[in-house]
Amino acid sequence: MDHARRRCNITLTLLLLAGFTFTSWFSFHMAHNSLSEGIIDETLPLTSHVISTDLQKQLQGPIYVAQSMAQNHFIHLWLKNGSANSEQLFAFLNKTKTLFKSKTSFLVDHSTQTYYHFDGQAHQLNFSSPESDWYKATIEESQRDYVLNVDASPQDNFSPIVYVNHKIIVNNALLGVTGVGIQLSDLQQLITHYQQQYKRKIYFADHQGRLIFYNQSKLPNHTLASEFASHHSEIISRPHYKFSINKQGVQRLINSRYIPDLGWHLMVEQTFTPETSLTDALFANLLLGGVITLCILAIAQLTFNQYQTRLESIALTDKLCNVLNRQAFEPQLQRHIQRAQNSRVPLSLLLLDIDHFKQVNDQYGHLVGDQVLKHFAKLCKSVARNNDILCRWGGEEFMILMPNSSIKHAEQLSERLRTALATCDCEVSITISIGVAQYQPQESEDDFIKRADDALYRAKRLGRDRSELAA
Ligand code: GH3
Ligand code: MG
Ligand code: MG
Repeated sequence: MDHARRRCNITLTLLLLAGFTFTSWFSFHMAHNSLSEGIIDETLPLTSHVISTDLQKQLQGPIYVAQSMAQNHFIHLWLKNGSANSEQLFAFLNKTKTLFKSKTSFLVDHSTQTYYHFDGQAHQLNFSSPESDWYKATIEESQRDYVLNVDASPQDNFSPIVYVNHKIIVNNALLGVTGVGIQLSDLQQLITHYQQQYKRKIYFADHQGRLIFYNQSKLPNHTLASEFASHHSEIISRPHYKFSINKQGVQRLINSRYIPDLGWHLMVEQTFTPETSLTDALFANLLLGGVITLCILAIAQLTFNQYQTRLESIALTDKLCNVLNRQAFEPQLQRHIQRAQNSRVPLSLLLLDIDHFKQVNDQYGHLVGDQVLKHFAKLCKSVARNNDILCRWGGEEFMILMPNSSIKHAEQLSERLRTALATCDCEVSITISIGVAQYQPQESEDDFIKRADDALYRAKRLGRDRSELAA
């Protein structure tokens, strides 16, 4: 019974714990996935949209200014007339810079490859030097008349500036490149705001895969490849691209988009670590699961115990007379015999048998016979002491075990019982014969009962309705 119960408890515990753990983990992962999907599918594209719109808005003005410069009649004439009178050009560049509040303005004469800076300085471009890459990229650009380039030039104190380099084309002939340079302080503030407030990183990459605005104060030498490893070719080739990079338990979610007007790629990144609240919820779920498991086990134990008690009482009680049956009585008898042997306290036994009970059945019927048995058991209980143990030994025979009682006390009880029966106003009057015995040291259980039985037999033989003491 105990073994079966333990097995049932273990199975129940394992099932409940496994169930709770699985559902908690499952919901944790679902929440985790939907959070990261929400970030990569909604939050990052939205940030990217806001930043690219803002950037385009900020660059619209400078692009327009560069375009106006490239279409300026004076510039066309000045270039066609062999770049004479540089003072006039410097004045034009300076005025343009002041008027549009740009950081710098410039012009390159394609025929002489001379770079004119608004502050009155001019120098030759060296095409073999990487410093002139921007110029080559501009004249080679086929989709737009301008190219945006971020650079830090010595003329402009090495501060990162966005240059709008616009081609000057007259009658399909390239005369030069002109434009302005601006500092995108507003954009940088916006980027800083996103980086600090929302813990998102913003990257821009130009057509060469070079990262720009990577850090506010200086130009980076980072590239897409160094920052995003194998994803760089996808970023360059796709207008929209989302991906994630897992490194040392940290998940980087990245959304990339191409801004055609600027020729730049914008990447917004958010580092995703499971929210503390999510982890807390997981542990709360597991804890709750544990508590519920304990509650269910406790309830199961109570139910088990109740059923066990009921089963035991059914198994050990005589249903008709509501007294102990023989099965329940025997261990008690053994226990008291043991006690009598050890501590030498007296122990007595009464074996009672209803006289001519067969006739009661024959005369009144079996049901009345049952009632008589019931009443007799009740009467025995009321006459016996509290610690006397009453048992239906079988049929119409009963036994009363009397701990701490000598045969004298037992005889007195037997007489009280006979008197009570004689004086009770029962429908069917009955008498009983009783064999009385006191336990003798070293006597076996069977011998003890046998002596009581012999005494009863004698009482029957001597005419019934009497008690006889065992030898
Ligand atoms: P004696 O004085 O010699 O004991 O005679 P007796 O008739 O009591 O003894 P006997 O052993 O011949 O018969 C016992 C009867 O008790 C027979 C049986 O039908 C009846 N009996 C046993 N158990 C029950 C019971 O649960 N209910 C009823 N109604 N009768 C029972
Ligand atoms: Mg009998
Ligand atoms: Mg009898």
